Amino acid sequence: MSGPGKKALIIVDVQNDFCPGGSLAVARGNEVVAPLNRLAREFLDRNEPVFKTRDWHPEKTKHFAAYGGTWPVHCVQGTRGAEFHANLLDDPRETIISKGIDERADGYSGFDGTNLARLLREEGVEEVWVGGLATDYCVKHTVLDALRLGFRVKALADAMRPVNLNPEDGEQAIQEMRAVGAEIVGDHKKAAGAGQ
Ligand SMILES: [Zn+2]
Repeated sequence: MSGPGKKALIIVDVQNDFCPGGSLAVARGNEVVAPLNRLAREFLDRNEPVFKTRDWHPEKTKHFAAYGGTWPVHCVQGTRGAEFHANLLDDPRETIISKGIDERADGYSGFDGTNLARLLREEGVEEVWVGGLATDYCVKHTVLDALRLGFRVKALADAMRPVNLNPEDGEQAIQEMRAVGAEIVGDHKKAAGAGQ
């Protein structure tokens, strides 16, 4: 079924630790679940592939503040915080991509150290739709890598939310994605976390 212009959906890191109550909670992060589920069902109904990335860190990694990185401990392999949000669609046709496994790297992008690009090419995918958590880190880096690797990208602004360590980070990430060729679809104020 790999005709020209085939699309895939990439759902980035919709995991407990990035949702309210998690150790690295993104404000309103849970709001991405409903629009992403809707899209995932549409893609699967059309036999288009759906990928779910997950942060899947070892206990000790330079990504965590305790070992010289930026972040509190989150999404450690096998923990409840690393599980997908309970309401996120769970369908056997979806492919899970684990990232952030390398203790020497941040692993923000779904393409970093994974076989995602190869799987997309094997399926004949030319365009990826990307949403999830968080706008200013893993979504942004996944979008930038997808473009660099030659895929067309639609960034799903209604279905992403930012960390906003600095209040402008989400908005800057949107501008950065647009500047390198991503098409921003939906309400980019949501993607930037405006009004929170
Ligand atoms: Zn992480």
